[in-house]
Amino acid sequence: MKLREVELRRIRMPLVSPFRTSFGTQTARDVLLVRAVTDEEEGWGECVAMADPVYSPEYLDGCADVLRRFFVPALTALDRLDATSVAPALRRFHGHQMAKGALEMAVLDAELRARGVPLARELGAESDSVPCGVSVGIMDSIDVLLDAVGGYLDEGYLRIKLKIEPGWDVEPVRAVRERFGDDVLLQVDANTAYTPADTRHLARLDPFDLLLIEQPLAEDDVLGHAELAKALATPVCLDESITSARTAAAAITLGACSVVNIKPGRVGGYLEARRIHDVCVAHGVPVWCGGMLETGLGRAANIALAALPGCTLPGDTSASDRYYRTDITEPFVLEGGHLRVPTGPGLGVRPIPELLEEVTASSEWLS
Ligand SMILES: [Mg+2]
Repeated sequence: MKLREVELRRIRMPLVSPFRTSFGTQTARDVLLVRAVTDEEEGWGECVAMADPVYSPEYLDGCADVLRRFFVPALTALDRLDATSVAPALRRFHGHQMAKGALEMAVLDAELRARGVPLARELGAESDSVPCGVSVGIMDSIDVLLDAVGGYLDEGYLRIKLKIEPGWDVEPVRAVRERFGDDVLLQVDANTAYTPADTRHLARLDPFDLLLIEQPLAEDDVLGHAELAKALATPVCLDESITSARTAAAAITLGACSVVNIKPGRVGGYLEARRIHDVCVAHGVPVWCGGMLETGLGRAANIALAALPGCTLPGDTSASDRYYRTDITEPFVLEGGHLRVPTGPGLGVRPIPELLEEVTASSEWLS
């Protein structure tokens, strides 16, 4: 395959309700889409960076810039392009995993379409549907939270994840347990909001039989997580800290986590995501697929990843309407708490031109 042109398209999607985490509140999702046009097929990628560098160092304008200046020219210079050649071609450029991941995803989609292979099959997925959890943001009150959780359970979600931060942790968890019972699969995500000094406080979550606590400490505090894991009965899961298969192996070996959340965008793409999956399986560590409020494009790919055999916990792969009234692809609809794994070649979905046009803020072609 030879890369001919790349489109960088910025879209803005209003959220059905504000989504608050320990790092901020989102009311709309600004997304950078990458369309790779090759001599054989075209493919789509989705960059999961946010508009501001508050979740990770990457941000959308920065991603567009590094793609434009460095990454796209490095790939158009290749005579023979396939998805496995993307990471080596970009290796001399440090960091920028989300921008790299988006470009690799677009090339992978194009390649798999040309070969007629669905992404799920390429990654090694075995199931044709995946169980779905939902991530519930920080709310203004416990009553509002209980209404939201009740609504998601009524919709059929099989696992609830509560975003937590200091001042919003033990009480919301207690309230959800008291209202909905001990059978609800429940976990929490701190998005790095605590420090080792909070260890005794976090141990107060132990009686609630949570599946896991996700990323309580700073992303570079792997040893801190290892110490914390010894002090908590609740299993520690890492998200932001896991940036590659190598860091996953190190974190597991050090005892910093006993569960891993894989986000392909954060680790440079779906190929590295599968390697992390494989490392975790080799260590007997359960894996699940996180989410970054993706459109139907990223959602389709995440569902393919979530169908891998090591993904033994429900992911944050929610239905499209959890976030968007109108998606840019055919919407993903919950069926008995599950989403169906796409079966078409590549991502198995494409943007619907009219819907894409409606949310497009800008478009730029690089050749
Ligand atoms: Mg997380």
